[in-house]
Amino acid sequence: MTKIYDKVALIGLGLIASSMFWAMKRGGLAGTVSGYARSQETRDTARKIGLCDHVCDSAIEAVKDADLVVLCVPVGAMEAVAQDISAHLKPGATISDVGSVKRSVIDTVGPFVPQGVHFIPAHPLAGTEHSGPEAGFASLFDNRWSLLVPVEGTEPQALAKLRAFWEGMGANVDEMDADHHDLVLAVTSHAPHLIAYTMVGVADDLRRVTDSEVIKYSAAGFRDFTRIAASDPTMWRDVFLTNKDATLEILGRFTEELFDLQRAIRTGDGDKLHAYFTRTRAIRRGIIQAGQDTDAPDFGRTKVSRE
Ligand code: NAP
Repeated sequence: MTKIYDKVALIGLGLIASSMFWAMKRGGLAGTVSGYARSQETRDTARKIGLCDHVCDSAIEAVKDADLVVLCVPVGAMEAVAQDISAHLKPGATISDVGSVKRSVIDTVGPFVPQGVHFIPAHPLAGTEHSGPEAGFASLFDNRWSLLVPVEGTEPQALAKLRAFWEGMGANVDEMDADHHDLVLAVTSHAPHLIAYTMVGVADDLRRVTDSEVIKYSAAGFRDFTRIAASDPTMWRDVFLTNKDATLEILGRFTEELFDLQRAIRTGDGDKLHAYFTRTRAIRRGIIQAGQDTDAPDFGRTKVSRE
């Protein structure tokens, strides 16, 4: 148990904030944790399940005397929250966030960070398709990466403290430049989500003509797409609106490759398809070797009987 901050404030009490709270408690990382969510319903739920030591009725009240403030709202809502709390941040405190896009957060939150307050954007690469205060759990960040995106002039001590905080919550920590972060995430997360949304949308159109067979006979590939496509609509709308350039760049490349594979199917170029799928299979092996997913069949969902 190593206390890193005396008081932590979480603004927004959804999946990520609630997981942070339980992970902080597990690791004894904070003296006290205050939290704020905009809706009465979320605040009531948080109080009922013991999420945060103090659930406050305003963000200003929550950040009072906090040594670390973490913005855990959708990327498009960060600016308004930062504006609201700006004048109430404690000198010497650190303000951070967990947003899935980093350049936009730096551009919109940065101007509201007062002199004497450290600003260190961050992004834990962990999540589920569930959202809200009851969705969180302490082990969400275990062995996942959390990326810190320090802005120019960040004090090494403040950075080291935030790194220790994320490590205390179970994460592996790396530092990355904002634009590079947004490009990497466009490849690994944002474009795949858009593709999943599209595939499920197409299947839904098809369902209308196939009389619900798509749902009834839903096979593994499609089911995995539906899990991703069930992610929070507000969060993902904001991701695409704020990481526009990188996502469009990757989708352009995706479309080119798709046309290429389409041609291989049309012309019966089996060698090309086989070589392509051999390459992609190796990528899956790499992810498992890096400990970022399970090797169990069906992603470990079902126990496989060998009898
Ligand atoms: P979530 O479960 O949907 O919770 C979002 C929280 O933000 C809720 O407390 C909500 O308040 C509040 N909120 C929504 N719109 C707001 C607005 N306009 N103004 C003020 N508060 C607002 O979301 P989450 O999954 O924890 O995501 C939070 C952040 O983490 C996002 O920036 C997301 O990009 C990032 N992130 C998500 C994942 C993931 O897989 N989910 C992974 C890594 C990073 P109410 O409950 O009162 O509506």
